[in-house]
Amino acid sequence: MDVYDSVVIGAGQAGLSASYHLERLGIRHVVLDAGPRPGGAWQHRWDSLTMRDVHGVADLPDGPAPGRSADRANRAVPAWFGRYEAEHDLPVRRPVRVRTVTGDGGLLRIDSDAGAWLARTLVNATGTWDRPFVPHYPGVETFRGEQVHTHDYPGPDHFRGKRVLVVGGGASAVQFLGEIGPITDTLWVTRREPVWRDEFDENAGREAVARVLDRVTSGFPPASVVSVTGLALRPQEETAARLGVYDRRRTMFSRVEPDGVRWDDDVRDPARPAFEPVDTILWATGFRPAVTHLAPLHLRSEHGGIPLLPGTADVQTAVTAARDPRVQLVGYGPSASTIGGNRGGRAAALAVRRHLTDRLVRLD
Ligand code: FAD
Repeated sequence: MDVYDSVVIGAGQAGLSASYHLERLGIRHVVLDAGPRPGGAWQHRWDSLTMRDVHGVADLPDGPAPGRSADRANRAVPAWFGRYEAEHDLPVRRPVRVRTVTGDGGLLRIDSDAGAWLARTLVNATGTWDRPFVPHYPGVETFRGEQVHTHDYPGPDHFRGKRVLVVGGGASAVQFLGEIGPITDTLWVTRREPVWRDEFDENAGREAVARVLDRVTSGFPPASVVSVTGLALRPQEETAARLGVYDRRRTMFSRVEPDGVRWDDDVRDPARPAFEPVDTILWATGFRPAVTHLAPLHLRSEHGGIPLLPGTADVQTAVTAARDPRVQLVGYGPSASTIGGNRGGRAAALAVRRHLTDRLVRLD
């Protein structure tokens, strides 16, 4: 079987950036992407998310991002990625879903639903979209109503006339409440106090990334960058805010019952009812890194995360798996944002080159 210098898994922002830099460095590679078409996770975002709603999509290297507009994000970003792949002649193969990556002698073997590849190094850029996370609450299996995760958010009209419990303290929960709060009855619960911010400048961004970096270099599962940047209400959420939609229940419910959720006395806010009837639970509870295919490589630490080596003078952000430096993780931890994906892609390409060069020196 042909041996590639590198295989990139995933063609979202992080994978495309990595592929661009690998091309520039003349490193022979292929990008395997499970998506039916270009766009990474953006092709799956809900229809009501416009390019005005997103926090800001960073440019790709040598590929300016579409600006703020009323265009749907699930069309504008995929169209841009598609043009980018073509203009830069990136070697993307799709649809290819990688099932496992295993060590094969000194090489890595990548098995997928469309064949196998051998590579000297791997850049994993699989994002989080494929692993929606729903926390477990006792009794959830008895709930007679509907449960929806952010992953399958059908847009606000679906919720008209229903009583909706929104669970989660991130940007998606804030956006959903802004959309559905004015047209139906909502209730908001979060596990932790949401962190609101007035302003978010570059320094705050750097601090947020530094906190996530700290976690992943110590081997803990990464927190989402957005969870540490804080939340802000945008003009389109002001109507909902005036209606009191963001007045949340301060404690999490203790259990789910067939027709709603219940707080036990020890966690109940005495000013609120112990039971709230709801028709729908909207789990805006985030995602986890989609890295199960890497399990055979045993990259995880005892803390449950994949520890990354700290950045170096050339590889300036943490991307290299501490337990197997052939493997780079981009869009993971500190690089889990569009700007982080860009930087991570460059860092990964440089780390791949360093690994390949060191290997040649060892062979001499
Ligand atoms: P993705 O875009 O998820 O791409 C991963 C690719 O890998 C996909 O194409 C997928 O099909 C493929 N893949 C996954 N598993 C496999 C496999 N086993 N085999 C083969 N291929 C696989 N960040 C910002 O900076 N600004 C924003 O405004 C912003 N808004 C967001 C809004 C929402 C609703 C969400 C959920 C996130 C948002 N983020 C934002 C975060 C941002 O989307 C991501 O950090 C970034 O786009 C992820 O890029 P990525 O390349 O890491 O992953």
